[in-house]
Formats: sequence, structure tokens, C-alpha cells
Amino acid sequence: MDCLFCKIIEGTIPSTKVYENDHVLAFKDIAPQAPVHIVIIPKKHIATMNDVTREDDVALAEIFAAARQIARDLGIADNGYRLINNTNKDGGQTVFHLHFHLLGGTTLTPQVN
Ligand code: 5GP
Ligand code: ZN
Repeated sequence: MDCLFCKIIEGTIPSTKVYENDHVLAFKDIAPQAPVHIVIIPKKHIATMNDVTREDDVALAEIFAAARQIARDLGIADNGYRLINNTNKDGGQTVFHLHFHLLGGTTLTPQVN
């Protein structure tokens, strides 16, 4: 499949992994927008948030569990962080494999975009 994040899961494109289990992979974003910028993805290819079904409940729960664990591991849990999903054109999605951005390590500017 011609999907960048599936290739990262396969290992044909390298990444700096920070968390992995049967359902989820998390790695450093190649163009960080904050001191901590981690991308968290399901190992199952799901194109966008619109394509998630209740069959993906476990994968989604694992993504949120990964976010909590990574935030603790990277020392940003108490100060805080932002967990973001961009969906389709208006959301600014550029890679069409579901993912959540975990951003922190600084006081993020209040913003809607
Ligand atoms: P989106 O804009 O779709 O919400 O987020 C896609 C993210 O993937 C961007 O933050 C971008 O920097 C990141 N990204 C794109 N290509 C690569 C890559 O090859 N490796 C890594 N680690 N991140 C990537
Ligand atoms: Zn994919």
C-alpha cells in the first residue's frame, strides 16, 4: 500500500520510535512544531477519523493510553500537552493514515489553527 505511515510501521521508512505495542506505534515527527512532537498511529491502516468504526475501539483506546504513557515518560504530563487529530482538507491532514499529534515541552499558544 502506498502509505507513508504503513511504510514506517513496516520499517521500510526509518523513524525514531518512542512507543510500540500490538495496536499502536509512536515516533518523533520529522518536522517538530514543539520541543516534544510525537505522532501516534494505529498499526491498522485507517485513512481518516471519518473511517474509524466501533471495531477500532481497542485501537483508539490504545492510542489514548499510549499518549498518557508517552507524556509521562517524556516528562510533560504534569505541565501539560496537546493531543491533536487533523481530518481531511479543512483539518489540514497531509498523511492519510489516522494519527494524533502529541505536542508539549513548552507553553503552547492558545489557538484554533
Ligand atoms: P498531518 O499534517 O497529516 O496532520 O500530519 C502529518 C505529520 O507527519 C506532519 O507533522 C509531518 O511533519 C509528519 N511526517 C511527514 N513525513 C514524515 C516522515 O517521513 N517521518 C516522520 N517521522 N514524520 C513525518
Ligand atoms: Zn497506512
